[in-house]
Amino acid sequence: MRLALGPLRTARALHSPLSGTMTNERNIVIIGGGIIGCTTAYYLTRHPSFSPSSTKITVLEASRNGVAQGASGKAGGLVASWAFPRELVDISFAEHVKLAEENGGAARWGWRYTNCGSWEGRGAADGEGIAKSGENGGRASTGLPDDLDWVGGDLTTAYSPIAGHKASAQVHPYLFTSGMMDLAKEKGAELIKGKAVNINKDGGRVTGVTYQESDEAQTKTIPATHVVLAAGPWTPSLEPSVPISTTFGCSITIRPKPSVTISPYVLFTEIQLPESDSFGKARVVSPEIYTRPDNEVYASGHGSVPLLPDNIDDVPVSDEDCNRIFSYVASISQELREGTIERRQGCFRPVVSTGGGPIIGEAGKIAKGLYIATGHTCWGICNAPGTAKALAELIFEGKIKCGRLDKLAPNETGKMAEQIRRLSRCWSVDVQVHEARTGVNRRLEHVLQSPYFPHNMKSLLEQTSHHAAICAILLNDCSANQYLAMNGSSGMAEVEVG
Ligand SMILES: Cc1cc2nc3c(=O)[nH]c(=O)nc-3n(C[C@H](O)[C@H](O)[C@H](O)COP(=O)(O)OP(=O)(O)OC[C@H]3O[C@@H](n4cnc5c(N)ncnc54)[C@H](O)[C@@H]3O)c2cc1C
Repeated sequence: MRLALGPLRTARALHSPLSGTMTNERNIVIIGGGIIGCTTAYYLTRHPSFSPSSTKITVLEASRNGVAQGASGKAGGLVASWAFPRELVDISFAEHVKLAEENGGAARWGWRYTNCGSWEGRGAADGEGIAKSGENGGRASTGLPDDLDWVGGDLTTAYSPIAGHKASAQVHPYLFTSGMMDLAKEKGAELIKGKAVNINKDGGRVTGVTYQESDEAQTKTIPATHVVLAAGPWTPSLEPSVPISTTFGCSITIRPKPSVTISPYVLFTEIQLPESDSFGKARVVSPEIYTRPDNEVYASGHGSVPLLPDNIDDVPVSDEDCNRIFSYVASISQELREGTIERRQGCFRPVVSTGGGPIIGEAGKIAKGLYIATGHTCWGICNAPGTAKALAELIFEGKIKCGRLDKLAPNETGKMAEQIRRLSRCWSVDVQVHEARTGVNRRLEHVLQSPYFPHNMKSLLEQTSHHAAICAILLNDCSANQYLAMNGSSGMAEVEVG
């Protein structure tokens, strides 16, 4: 455990006594032990300029239970070459492949390529049997692949694959995040279970981080030449000017019967439930289903939204919402219906409230040496390696060399928000998309085909290269949804989701 030093002692230790300029010594404090913080610690320790004798890396994590207790441990784990933003995905996808190869990712964090597609159909009622896929014919006409044999073939209306061979992969997000931290520790990084309560600054530079260890009233200070703020949804509690808000998601994991093997698929579903709503309208829900190499099945959806608690350990879980997700996925799969729920979980994902994002880079206007890395919405698992590699270059070399991420720099986010506001003002088409009977993909095609839909926004959405990907963005309540909903009365798209 490092000694806690006061700010004066810190300044003396880090400045050359003769010239007053900074020495090469670096004290890097990362606030947040989610996937962004832990992967950043890993990439810093693997940078060619890293030496444990001159660089100290500390990850501060507020949870009593260690790293990956939030979205980073409770996400689906999809890693997609068709995710967004393009420039970050291009770095991240290749890095995921490399990380898995170099560190035995298949065994260590469940890395594998997977199939990914959107599935549309109806859910069977409770007492109704779900015919094994294909028994009553009709597979070819729906596009259902032969090995996707754990969803009811007769319930399927349409299946369409998203992207091609090796374009989608997956990790187990908890194992990946904790694996990154363990690998960083092997090279000298340190993890402290403590909550940062202040980022200390002096003369326009960061000087340290004051934190409180779990269950201790007293605070301590770690000196810092560089602070990486990767506190996800909690980022504004330390720097209120960073435009981060949050959305909530619930999820469950299901263990099928031991005799059952579930083939590798990530499905974005659209299930018409057997029962109608109170107005007699069909109800369509959209849980996502991820099968994992150890035969665990993860399913996520929406539920009642709690307030963000002060500490990640107090995020509530609604049994009712989790049971509802189970009933949705159980309505299309006999194999899942016969499985048991192993985990019920809820978590918040960080969203850039002004649109776009994530925010990656030095926030020099707040303080030199302060780096922001958050707002990854529904693609933080996918985009963590690119974020971390970029930060390591920025910290050690003064600039990002692995790609062009200028648009994501903290000082750019305000500009981007203004651009989006301007675009959405021009968009006067009234897109009321309450009709849950129409498929999400079709609704989006309708939106995209509108001649009034702003060209720039269209190309932004098209960067995801597939409508089902756009559908995924919307289902995750992410930036696209914000863009679409931005201009209230004149341009509005509301998508009813699970
Ligand atoms: C249901 C769901 C499914 C998802 N599926 C996918 C997917 O398939 N693929 C994908 O790419 N992305 C997915 N995501 C998104 C992804 O999970 C997030 O983008 C990502 O986990 C965000 O990581 P983070 O490190 O920024 O935040 P977090 O995981 O929230 O980590 C932030 C950490 O900071 C800590 N912290 C906060 N304040 C302090 C403080 N003051 N001091 C010290 N520590 C602090 C918190 O305790 C927390 O551990 C999903 C998200 C959800 C909700």
